[in-house]
Amino acid sequence: MTWQNIRRFLRNPHFARSPHDRAAFAMLIVGAQLALWYETCHVMQYYHSEENGGTSAGWIAHVVFSLFLYANSLANVYKMIRTRVICDLTVLGVAENADWPYCERCLSHRPPRTHHCRVCDICVLKRDHHCWFGGCCVGHANHRYYFCAISYMFMAAIYSNFYHFSFMTDRLHHLGQYGIPFCVILPHFCALFGYLSFYQFLVAVLSFIGFFLLVIFLWLISIQVVQIATGQTRYERKRGDHMYNNGPMENIRAVFGERWYIAWLCPWISSSLPENGASFRVSEVKTK
Ligand SMILES: [Zn+2]
Ligand SMILES: [Zn+2]
Repeated sequence: MTWQNIRRFLRNPHFARSPHDRAAFAMLIVGAQLALWYETCHVMQYYHSEENGGTSAGWIAHVVFSLFLYANSLANVYKMIRTRVICDLTVLGVAENADWPYCERCLSHRPPRTHHCRVCDICVLKRDHHCWFGGCCVGHANHRYYFCAISYMFMAAIYSNFYHFSFMTDRLHHLGQYGIPFCVILPHFCALFGYLSFYQFLVAVLSFIGFFLLVIFLWLISIQVVQIATGQTRYERKRGDHMYNNGPMENIRAVFGERWYIAWLCPWISSSLPENGASFRVSEVKTK
């Protein structure tokens, strides 16, 4: 990516408009670099060092897999931000319909499932929610990238926590089996009373953050899996509305496109969506 592309990316008028968005996006970018360095160059390297019976080939294999997870996580965030989610009927080639709900901010009627985002200040097609860490809305065209980004981050969190458990036990072994969980939950308290050195304090804090992120990603994915499987957006899930539930396979296609079976491998694999974002196939079996 050239500097010109980065400048164009940051000048996108709908990207990271609020201070919360900018802070969260910076945290994501800085956190991803630190996490990659800590996991591959510190934790994994320790396990694959010769003194622990490992090999450099084993370590390189783990580094390559970690880079795959890292690259796919950030590439999906990039595509999520760059994909157009705004409701522009001219671009869609769709005539405004007076029966649609009216948006007081955009001063126009908006198609079904479109909602106005107060942060982005635009109407978003099939809006799900506003993502602070991406600084943009998740809607019809970029839902796939959001789901893939959190899925790859979730896989990275499982991978990291698997290593953290034994790494932490090794580094904090002097505390015993009951002292270690206590120090991970309250590392400041333990460091203050001299149970942890500064290095051990960092290991305890990073292990706690790793576990916390694992729980957060699990929670985010659970919500998305339920919504995608039932063909709902966040609004419809809250209302218990199954109007667009056309069965699991059709619902998956509506988010991941026609090539859903490989679309998750890389965000640059094209996979056209069956709907244009303004009109949707209504379920024949209405539960509400
Ligand atoms: Zn609007
Ligand atoms: Zn938004």
